[in-house]
Amino acid sequence: MNAAVAPPVPEELDAFRRDRTYLGADHHRNERRIWIVTGICVVTLAAQLVGGALFKSVALTAGGLHMSAHVAALLTAAAAYAFARRHAADPRFSFGVGKVGYLAGFANAVVLAITALAIATESVERLIHPEAVRYDGALPLAAAGLAVNLLCIVVLRPARRKGHTHDRDGDLNISAAHLHLSADAMVSVLTIAAMALGAALHWDWTDPAAGLAGAILVGRFAWNLARRASATLLDVNPSSALTEEVRARLQVDGAEVVDLHVWRLGPGHHAAVAVVAGLHVDVARLRQALAVIPELSHVTIEVATPGATHQP
Ligand SMILES: [Zn+2]
Repeated sequence: MNAAVAPPVPEELDAFRRDRTYLGADHHRNERRIWIVTGICVVTLAAQLVGGALFKSVALTAGGLHMSAHVAALLTAAAAYAFARRHAADPRFSFGVGKVGYLAGFANAVVLAITALAIATESVERLIHPEAVRYDGALPLAAAGLAVNLLCIVVLRPARRKGHTHDRDGDLNISAAHLHLSADAMVSVLTIAAMALGAALHWDWTDPAAGLAGAILVGRFAWNLARRASATLLDVNPSSALTEEVRARLQVDGAEVVDLHVWRLGPGHHAAVAVVAGLHVDVARLRQALAVIPELSHVTIEVATPGATHQP
């Protein structure tokens, strides 16, 4: 629009010209942390692969394979943050790029599900055909892996949001990485306990049994993550509490909300489209009433005049 010929727009409409990037409040912090953890995993991966070749250790090489899956998952998350940052103001994305992180989260849930399937297959195989576990080599490796894992979990810890919020999912992109590494840490603890028990009692079945329990755990994490990511991608109502709060704040002065859509645009950002019917509806007042809800970033209110019909 050419400012020279455009008619002056009232000041109260400035809210519509606000920056509409819909990125999470912790976007930069989380992106930085994903890169730090990617660095830690790349160094560990290199150490595992070099160690595996030097000591001809299958366990080290297998650990390296898992670590390379981590590097791939973390690079997916990092790419999503970078893409969203670069296209934050791109008008081609009608409702911003706040959902890119949810798409990356969904992709990582699929990777996690495949990991669970691979662990389960290997564990069942080993339960049917037991192999002697070389505990002296495997135990310190599992402990070292757990230590690296715990360090990554601390770095990836999502930031705590204070005060009034209806968005319990927060930034799903960093949560996905955090959830994956937390699942791995639980599997590591299970594995170490099973190996210690197996070594003490000379049993071969505790290790694959722990593997199978771990696969179920990782599978559950994957399902939970896929469900949460797809809910946002498919515009499932993010919070009935938020929707009811919007409805209640719009129903003043005898006004009736005849149509209401609430959906998530990005971490901590939601949109609402409402059709309000009533004789004395003051849109500016309704906008003001909704302005107190911090996670409502885009509001469109249509007033239906009695007698006219609204086409949904
Ligand atoms: Zn993993």
